[in-house]
Parts: sequence; C-alpha cells; structure tokens
Amino acid sequence: MGQEAFETIIGLEVHVQLSTESKAFCRDKTEFGGSPNSQISAISLGHPGTLPFMNKKQVQYATRLGLALNGNINEVNTFDRKNYFYADLPKGYQITQDKKPISVGGYLPIKMGDVWKNIRIHHIHIEEDAGKSIHTLHDSKSFIDLNRAGMPLIEIVTEPDLRSGAEVDAFMTGIRQLVRYLEISDGNMEEGSLRCDVNISIRPKGTDILNNRCEVKNVNSMKFARQAIEFEELRQQKIVEEGGTVAQQTLNFDPAIGVTSPLRSKEDAHDYRYFPEPDLPPIHLSADFLDTERKNITILPWEAFHFLHNELGLPVQEASILSELKDTFIFYKGLLEKVEDKKLLTNFMVNKLLPSLHEKGLSLADSPLSKEGILQFLSLISSEKLSHSIAYQKLFPLWMENPSLHPLDLAESQQWLQEKEEGKIELIFKEIIAEYPQKWSEFTSGKKGLAGFFMGELMKKTGGKSNPKEAMDILISMQNKK
Ligand code: MN
Repeated sequence: MGQEAFETIIGLEVHVQLSTESKAFCRDKTEFGGSPNSQISAISLGHPGTLPFMNKKQVQYATRLGLALNGNINEVNTFDRKNYFYADLPKGYQITQDKKPISVGGYLPIKMGDVWKNIRIHHIHIEEDAGKSIHTLHDSKSFIDLNRAGMPLIEIVTEPDLRSGAEVDAFMTGIRQLVRYLEISDGNMEEGSLRCDVNISIRPKGTDILNNRCEVKNVNSMKFARQAIEFEELRQQKIVEEGGTVAQQTLNFDPAIGVTSPLRSKEDAHDYRYFPEPDLPPIHLSADFLDTERKNITILPWEAFHFLHNELGLPVQEASILSELKDTFIFYKGLLEKVEDKKLLTNFMVNKLLPSLHEKGLSLADSPLSKEGILQFLSLISSEKLSHSIAYQKLFPLWMENPSLHPLDLAESQQWLQEKEEGKIELIFKEIIAEYPQKWSEFTSGKKGLAGFFMGELMKKTGGKSNPKEAMDILISMQNKK
C-alpha cells in the first residue's frame, strides 16, 4: 500500500497558560523569567496544612474561552486530584478538573486555504502546572525550578478531527490568535504559554476504525509539531505495511534529529487515581457572571476576517493581515469610517504602516504616529496635493523620524506639495481665447464640438502635461461663467 492509502487521525491536548497576575491557587507571582524558585510559597510547594484557594480570574478566562468556542459551560464546577510521583511535583498530585470541567463541546473554525473546517472540542478544563526539572546543567545532578508549579492553565482537548500536520498548525495558530483576541493569554509558544500533546494514529482511507494511537508529549513549536507528525505517519505506515501493529505509546520528539522515541508504553502507563479535591469547594457560576464574560468577548478572529473578506471584499491575504491581531482590526476599522478612499487606507496599512512598525520591532499599540496624522497623510495623497511615491518614499520615513510633527507641515517645509494646476490652466485658456475670440463666442453660444479645439490648443501649450479631465472641467466652468 502506498502512502495515499492511509489517512492520519489526530487529536490534541493543548495547554494554555493564562495571563493572570497570580497563580491558580495562591498569590505567587506568575511573571516569566524570574530567577529559579523566587516565585514560590508554602501553598505552591504543597506543605502540609496549607489550603489552596481558587483564582477568580482563571475561572473568568476559562469561561470566556469556553463561550468563544461555543462550548456548554458547566454551572457547577468541581475539582479533582490527579496523582503521580515526580520530583518537580512537590504535592504529589496536580489539581485539575476530571468530572465537571468548565466547558463541554464546541468547536474552533480553522481556515485551510479557502475552506473553513470546524474542529470539534471535547472539553476544556482548569488546572495547574507542575514545576520544571533541569537535567542539562550538570553531568550527574538534576535541578528543580518550582516557579512554574501552580501556574494557571487551561487544557483544551479536541475530538480526533485533525488530519494532517498542516491542520494541526492551523489549529494551534487559531488558538493562539483566539486567546490573544480574548486577552486571556499571550499565547507565546517560545515561553511555554502554549504547548500541545499530539495523539496520532493512522488507518486505511475510507474506513472509520480507530487504531492504537501514540501520544507525542509537550510539543512547543508549530514546526516541531509538523515534523513529529510527518515522522509518526511514516513510522506507523511502515509498521502496518509490514503486517505489524502499532504499539500504544507515549513518545518524546527530539527536534535536533527529527525523531520520536518511546517515553513509556501502555503497560506502564500512569494510573492517576483521580479523586475529588477535598480542599476546594465546587464553584457555582451565576447567570450574571456568564453574561459579563459574554460581554467581554467583543469580537472573534473569524468574525473580523469575515467582515474584511466577505463584507469589504478584501483579498484573503489582506483580510488575514488586518485581522491577525484584535488591535490591528480595531485600528483599521476606526480609520475606515473616516476615510473615503478605502483602498488607499488598506494599502497603507498592509504595505506601509505595519511593515515599517514591524521593522522597528514595534506593535501598533507602540506606534508613534497618531490617527489624526494618518488621516492627514492619506488625505494629502487622495487630494493629489502629494504624489503617492513622494508620500510613501520620502514623507513617510521623515514623519516616522519626527512623529510629533504634522505630515502636512513636513511636506510643506520640504516643498513637496504639488502646485494647484487649476489657476495655471485657466490662465492658458484665457490666452487661447484672446487668440481665437470668434471660436470662443461660437463655443459659448452652443457649438459644443469646439471643446476639442480648445483642449488641443491647451495640450500644445503645456506639452500634453495637463490632466485632461481636470482641464475639461475648467473649460466648462469658464464657459458657464460667460
Ligand atoms: Mn493537562
């Protein structure tokens, strides 16, 4: 059987670290990059006699995500202990939600080329992170940093709806964009705020059997996710083609060599012995609480994209760029209402403003250019006081260096403004009229065909440089004045 005889079935468990100021069940700070073991307390270390208490923000953020993904929010939330022994888990268990998680069901729309596909969500639950073991600093010793112990997480568990590395990439990109729109996480994969476990199996195309799956743990970049999936597809296909059965395993992916290797097999898989967390009472979510979170969702990424693409008619690429971040979309939409030439605005945002800010490592929020200034800059172009090329190539860079000055003043001081043609053309027409008074009186008394004669004479005198439409308007207004 060839490669095309199989299809790949993928489900994800995505961990998102929430951007709350304190940890899930205590007041420890959550800032990234603190020196090891500087953001800990008796509670996050799990000392006997200490009691956890729920971070309200974490419940709010998890609820917001559940609503955005069209999940059913459980009005009563309960917590459970997931037990396992590991050096970076001082309590010996993780507080999580097993029986009554925050949200059940729902889906995330992902865009594959021009087609949208809904990836169903099984559920979302609230939990805390474990600490970090560091094995690379010493030959024979390991180190433990417990700053991460108790960090606020939500875990998103999908249905097995994904079929390729490209779809996983689109899903993770979509989740990152969503949590940023919802302002609940920075979604930063490099800093570990977003990571996923990939469950992957293969089956002959056209069947609906679910074969043994392998789980690739803790993938923290889209590139690695794609590489791990490609490697697994080929490895599992080879086993099946040779008549074997894929063993259900937990795998580790080594990005340096692009290979997965077993961490543990099903036989020695953990039995987590889940049981209800006795130290945290159930949480009841009121209708008011849910309403507030519904209101906190101002716009969703796919709504912004549809507005730009389907309502405004922008091409996919421009619509994607302008809806990538909520800030960008809101900024663009705010200007859109005040600008007549929408195409000019779109072009300016996509090809000038955003790339220039990106080059300087600035976000739109850090942009030194005021909205009023941008409107003035655009009106200089649309009113033809300034040519497009001078505006983009000369005025814009000068303005970026002097953002407190007005674009109009800068253009004036550099003598870049184009002279108004109107007065000049009227003067030339007056000369022509003086030369041909007879023809002018025939023209004004109704011989319309003579317009071509006067236009021809004008072009002779200006060397063909005048804008014909503008010149014709002036000629007609002179005729009407007569
Ligand atoms: Mn988890």
